Amino acid sequence: MNYPLYLDYNATTPCDKKVLEGMLPYFTLDFGNASSEHHPYGWVAKEAIEDATLHISSLLKIDEKEIIYTSGSTESINAVLKGVYRKLKHKGNQILTVKTEHKATLDVCEYLQEEGADVTYLDVDGNGLIDLNALALAISDNTLIVSVMYANNETGVIQPMEAIAKICKQKNTLLFSDATQAIGKIPLDNFFSWVDFACFSAHKIYGPKGIGFTFAKLESQASLQSFIQGGGQQRKLRGGTYNTPAIVGMAKAIALSCQNLEAERNRLSNLRNQLEEGLSLIEEATINGKKSDRLCNTLNISFEYVDGQQLLAALSRNIAVSNGSACNSAAINPSHVLTAMGIGRNLALSTLRISLGKYTTEEDIQKAILIITKEVAKQRASNLLWDRR
Ligand code: PLP
Repeated sequence: MNYPLYLDYNATTPCDKKVLEGMLPYFTLDFGNASSEHHPYGWVAKEAIEDATLHISSLLKIDEKEIIYTSGSTESINAVLKGVYRKLKHKGNQILTVKTEHKATLDVCEYLQEEGADVTYLDVDGNGLIDLNALALAISDNTLIVSVMYANNETGVIQPMEAIAKICKQKNTLLFSDATQAIGKIPLDNFFSWVDFACFSAHKIYGPKGIGFTFAKLESQASLQSFIQGGGQQRKLRGGTYNTPAIVGMAKAIALSCQNLEAERNRLSNLRNQLEEGLSLIEEATINGKKSDRLCNTLNISFEYVDGQQLLAALSRNIAVSNGSACNSAAINPSHVLTAMGIGRNLALSTLRISLGKYTTEEDIQKAILIITKEVAKQRASNLLWDRR
């Protein structure tokens, strides 16, 4: 397969070779089950998990008991929202979230509505940000949990999490934040003091797929019902055999993501800005979320008079990028994130999400600018509306 240039790092990242090397022994020689208490196979696996947990907790400055391993952020989102709702529903039934959350959160909220939850979906402004006054007003005695993602996977827009946390504390409400896109791109120094729960996925930071963890603050764990029962692992909060190689790999990936975070952030924002400047030279191009604080690696850009599906199809030979639209067999729907920001259906459909990562070079950026500029012009050349505009 002749792969195109990869600029879709928010979707997933390649596993770092150092991560893979660290994982390999736990597939073969050290393959034991960490719950096997009676022989060295189990002891070695258990020690590997304990070391990885200690490593993650010291890197993120959290307690080891605040880490609950899961298969990734989707599972963590299910675990937190369903776990809190089911444990606390005698106290109220409101869940507060935002229209621009990842589908994993929106789908779980929709599911919980069938169990009786009253879900309030907060609006965002044209820059993708929630209104803090609206959040404060929406929280009531009936509110069980507020769920706001830290950084958006499509636009990169970063929500003011510290201020959101302040409001939740004042109102005595639990706060969950999907930080899947934040880790490795934003320093998380104070983040864990702000939130009660958070979720992470290793495959966004050059770790393996199918592993992540829920951060559950010690004092908030009483509000969480166990989500997967069986075997009693993880203090009965999440049953199932520990995925030793993946946990070891995730610890390594987190360690690598913390190294040179500031330098890598600067490098990526420089590259992203070059890309943004280059593509802004295209007529009638709009950068979405430009006025907000954004992830250093993400560019979300819309082009008028271009068919987004055709553009993506044409680009896919040379560059792997994405748009946020959801495809089902009958129709293509524009991104719910962009429409919530007030962007019209057609323009939302003519949007690219370009996300850079640690293997992106300046040469890649120049190449991407050339290819996208050429392809947009080509699409417009065959669009009568472009001439008549
Ligand atoms: N939340 C955000 C913001 C994401 O970007 C993703 C992945 O695309 C998820 C949740 C789901 O993560 P996973 O697929 O690892 O379960």
